[in-house]
Amino acid sequence: MTANRQVLLKSRPVGEPTVDNFEIVKRDVAAPGDGEVTVRTMFLSLDPYMRGRMNETRSYAASVAVGGVMVGGTVGEVVESRAPGFAKGDFVSGFAGWQEYANLPAKTLRKLDPNAAPLSSALGVLGMPGLTAYAGLLDIAQIKAGETVVVSAASGAVGSVVGQIAKIKGCRAVGIAGGRVKCEHVVNELGFDAWVDHRDPELFKSLKTACPKGIDVDFENVGGAVLQAIWPLMNDFGRVALCGLIAHYNDTSLAPGPSWMYLLARRLMVRGFIVSDHMSRMGDFQRDMAGWLREGKIKYREHVVEGIENAPEAFLGLLKGKNFGKLIVKMGN
Ligand code: NDP
Repeated sequence: MTANRQVLLKSRPVGEPTVDNFEIVKRDVAAPGDGEVTVRTMFLSLDPYMRGRMNETRSYAASVAVGGVMVGGTVGEVVESRAPGFAKGDFVSGFAGWQEYANLPAKTLRKLDPNAAPLSSALGVLGMPGLTAYAGLLDIAQIKAGETVVVSAASGAVGSVVGQIAKIKGCRAVGIAGGRVKCEHVVNELGFDAWVDHRDPELFKSLKTACPKGIDVDFENVGGAVLQAIWPLMNDFGRVALCGLIAHYNDTSLAPGPSWMYLLARRLMVRGFIVSDHMSRMGDFQRDMAGWLREGKIKYREHVVEGIENAPEAFLGLLKGKNFGKLIVKMGN
C-alpha cells in the first residue's frame, strides 16, 4: 500500500479563502478496479474555477463536498493498470484532483507523449487554458484580421494565449495585467502590441490610448473595474467573450444590477441591437403582421390622449407607467 496525501475541502470559505479551509490527510491507495489505472500525480493544475467549486451555490459544475478531495486537472504516471491500452510508465492527463495518487477510469485519461511537449504543458498552453483561449477567440468572439482585441489577466494561462492567437490572426492585441513586469512581458516576450496596467489610476485613459481605434473584441477574464474601463471603448458590433470574472470570485454579495456571473455560469448570450439596422426586414414584417392581425392572432391596445397641449404631460406619464398601451396623441386640429 502506498500512502497518498490528499488535500480536502475542510470548510466553505466566506469571501477570501484561507488555508484553514483546507485539510491535508494521508490515506492508503487502494488497488485499481476493473477498467481503472492508478496514477501517480506529477503535476496538478491550480485554476481560478476552483474557487467556485468551494462554494455550495449552483454553478456550471458541482461543488466539492466538505470533506471531499479538491478537484483539479493533473498530469501523472501510470503505476498500475487494470485497463487495456494503459501500462505502467505511461504518462497521462486526467482529473485526479489535489492528491498524490488516484485510481481513475481509463476512459477519462488522455495519453501524453513526453517527447512531443513538456508534460506540464498539457495543463496549460496545450490543455484546458489553451483551448479556452482558442475557442473563446475563434468561436465565441469570431475575431477578424485588423480588429483590436483586448484581454485581461493577459500574462496568465488563458490571457497569454489569447493575445498570441489574436496576433497570429492579424489582430491588434492589447493586454491588461497587474504591474510593470507582467505588462512588459506581454509586449516584449509574447508580442502583444500594447499593455495597460489595471492598477493604473488612469486605467480608462491609458486603455483609450492603447486602443486608438476602440475595442472590437473584449476577451474578459476579470470583470470589475477592468470591465468598467473597457465597456465605453467598445466599438459598434464588438463582441465580448465572457470567459472569467476573477475580480468577483470572493464576493459575498451581488453588486446592484444584474450579475455578470449569471451570464458566465449559464452561458447566456447578450447582444445589443438597434432596429434601424434591420430595416431590410420591413417588407417581411409588414406582410406577416398584417396577416396575423387579420387572423386575430395579434391583439393591440392604444392609449389615446387628446390634444397636443396634453402631449408633454402624457410623455412624462409614459416615463412613469401612466400609459396603458401604445401612447398616441390625437390631434384636435
Ligand atoms: P491566470 O493565470 O490568468 O491567473 C489569474 C490572474 O487573474 C492573476 O494572475 C491576476 O493577474 C488576475 N487577477 C486576479 N484578481 C484580479 C483582480 N481583482 N483584478 C484584475 N486582475 C485580477 O488564470 P487563468 O488564465 O487560468 O484564468 C483567467 C480567467 O479565465 C479566470 O477568470 C478564469 O476563471 C477564466 N477561465 C474561464 C474558463 C471558461 O471555461 N470560461 C476556463 C479557464 C479559465 P494580474 O496580476 O495581471 O492582475
